[in-house]
Amino acid sequence: MKFQGKTIIITGASGGIGLATAKKFASEGANIVLADINLEGLNKARDQLKETGSEKVWISRCDVSQEKEVESTITGAIDNFGRLDIVVNNAGLMIFKKIEEQTENDWYRVLSVDLLGAFFFTKYAFLRMSKGGSIINISSIHAIETTPMVACYAAAKAALLSLTRSASMEGKAKGIRVNAILPGAIDTPMLWDNPNVKAGIEKIDIDSVGKPGDIAGAISFLASDEAEFVQGAMLRVDGGRLSKL
Ligand code: NAP
Repeated sequence: MKFQGKTIIITGASGGIGLATAKKFASEGANIVLADINLEGLNKARDQLKETGSEKVWISRCDVSQEKEVESTITGAIDNFGRLDIVVNNAGLMIFKKIEEQTENDWYRVLSVDLLGAFFFTKYAFLRMSKGGSIINISSIHAIETTPMVACYAAAKAALLSLTRSASMEGKAKGIRVNAILPGAIDTPMLWDNPNVKAGIEKIDIDSVGKPGDIAGAISFLASDEAEFVQGAMLRVDGGRLSKL
């Protein structure tokens, strides 16, 4: 049991990559904190984990863009389980509009969830996390190459890599490792509901579609002692999609 006795907070945990990550860490013995804005989804996610025999699960209804809610989630995790070891900043959203149609509010909305949420969790994890802790930011290959219509998402995911770089330097002095994963196309509703994918603007080669568990596996490696020398890494997990000409 690789994570026996350790406590992990996963944001955006009610489905997709977040729920797959929760299942993976629960199977490895971790205490699980599921954090999401969607309370109904959280309750269902907790029930699914309990069906697989995981009892050490606490849910926190948390809008990651609200600093006070993030602070309460970190405090609640420590109150429930006595310690905090791993944070996965996975909550994210996209909007699809041409730049000339985007509003100031669109940018604040996406940046506040996809970037500020990770900043808030990093801040309070730095204040409360145990030495030897690990923070993993879920960016995207859109941080490197992108499509039209998703400018605020691509900018937020690129800035999340920059936050990872800064936090990895400041975290090192505290014994906290900070790394990022750049998923490619992963088989979740977020991929198939994407209007760019539906319209063929973003072409998806079916051979390059991964499963949520593929990302959970990479998160598990980065959070583990095997990755103790991995600090500030930006790990592309995309089935080789970006390497193709
Ligand atoms: P997902 O199922 O939509 O996961 C995102 C989760 O974040 C949802 O549960 C969503 O809740 C939650 N969320 C949205 N706003 C929030 C907020 N303000 N506070 C807390 N939670 C919030 O999609 P996914 O595919 O698993 O994506 C997970 C992460 O991977 C995202 O950061 C995404 O950008 C990244 N990613 C995904 C892919 C892919 O192909 N799937 C590729 C690259 C990167 P609701 O249920 O209420 O929406």
